[in-house]
Amino acid sequence: MKAADIIVIGAGMAGISTASRLAEQAEVMVLEAESQPGYHSTSRSAAMFILNYGNQVLRELNQHSKCLYDELEQDLGKGSLLNVRGDLMVAGADEIEQFNHYLANSTGLDVINIDEALQLCPALRKDKVHKAAIERGAADIDVDTLLQHYIRSFKENNGQIEYNCRIKSLTYKNNRWLITTSSGLYSASTVVNAAGAWADQVGALAGLDPVGLIPKRRSAALIKVSEHESIDNWPLVLSASESWYAKPQSGLLIVSPADEDPVQPHDAWPEDLVLAEGIDRFQQFMNIEVNRIENSWAGLRTFAPDKNPVVGFSSQAQGFFWLAGQGGYGIQTAPVLAQFSADLILNHAPKISDILIRALSPDRFINQGATG
Ligand SMILES: Cc1cc2nc3c(=O)[nH]c(=O)nc-3n(C[C@H](O)[C@H](O)[C@H](O)COP(=O)(O)OP(=O)(O)OC[C@H]3O[C@@H](n4cnc5c(N)ncnc54)[C@H](O)[C@@H]3O)c2cc1C
Repeated sequence: MKAADIIVIGAGMAGISTASRLAEQAEVMVLEAESQPGYHSTSRSAAMFILNYGNQVLRELNQHSKCLYDELEQDLGKGSLLNVRGDLMVAGADEIEQFNHYLANSTGLDVINIDEALQLCPALRKDKVHKAAIERGAADIDVDTLLQHYIRSFKENNGQIEYNCRIKSLTYKNNRWLITTSSGLYSASTVVNAAGAWADQVGALAGLDPVGLIPKRRSAALIKVSEHESIDNWPLVLSASESWYAKPQSGLLIVSPADEDPVQPHDAWPEDLVLAEGIDRFQQFMNIEVNRIENSWAGLRTFAPDKNPVVGFSSQAQGFFWLAGQGGYGIQTAPVLAQFSADLILNHAPKISDILIRALSPDRFINQGATG
């Protein structure tokens, strides 16, 4: 049997970033079902950092995370992780309410006129766009550089990653978790559940109630744009009702239907009809002919019922830590959630507010409905 102080389940961005923090002060192993890190949601993201993306809890986390990205870039070099692209939100006639809702309590978001929006993205149809706003500082994230940085620093602190190692059972005995996997037995005093879309299933293996995580599929298609030049300079363009978005990538354009179909955890792939409908919504706003899809993919964005991440020790079992429900924000919030998780697990004072700590706590679901 292999033993460590802490075992992290899942080598996605959440598990690896947290393991890297923990390994500075503890003996840590990461167990991953797949043969490589980041295989599921982490490698399929749109790789954007948008300060105003998400609810109020997320917006606060994003602010904290931005500072930590800046700190990381002091070591890795400016521009190594974040490169400013901008996030242009456009609203059609029937999306004004969503547009105003997004604007409320936002930071660094400028409302601009339609002509300026067209300068930023000349493919936009002037007759369709009724409102526009830009978060100029929104940035592309180099996901691979970030993930590899965390893996490198984890290994420098003697962290070990076991691939092809799927958790089959979790039993708590004599103050330790005994973990049966597809490739042997492990034990640790603390287990971190960073299993992404599978986190409720992993919780169930340990005998815990589900927190109600719902994996939602999000798809993307890569298309060529022949009508316009210099598309690499365009911002990400997002519809105010989040019914499509588009983002340049290496001379091509990623178009997402921004689908949110609830599914069981699985190795996600896109459905043709979902892509076709999304491209149709995109084309209602953009003068771009789409004749062919060069490539397409899908991934799972996993949400708790209130859409806040679920981060903290379970009150149902000793030494079981939840790190799940990062939804569509798990790359941009990874540094702050890793820091927060490591602080809680290593018994350090957290650097985020008590209000935020409560908003993330797994107990918020267990205590639901309890009377005073
Ligand atoms: C299309 C799309 C666009 C997105 N865009 C953005 C964006 O622009 N910005 C942003 O910040 N976020 C974005 N996200 C969200 C982001 O990708 C996720 O929040 C993040 O990757 C979640 O990381 P994770 O480590 O929790 O999950 P994952 O990367 O899925 O990792 C979980 C790991 O756990 C492993 N695992 C599961 N069960 C077991 C088991 N029983 N035993 C062992 N291992 C197990 C899995 O194999 C997997 O590798 C996007 C997501 C999608 C799908």
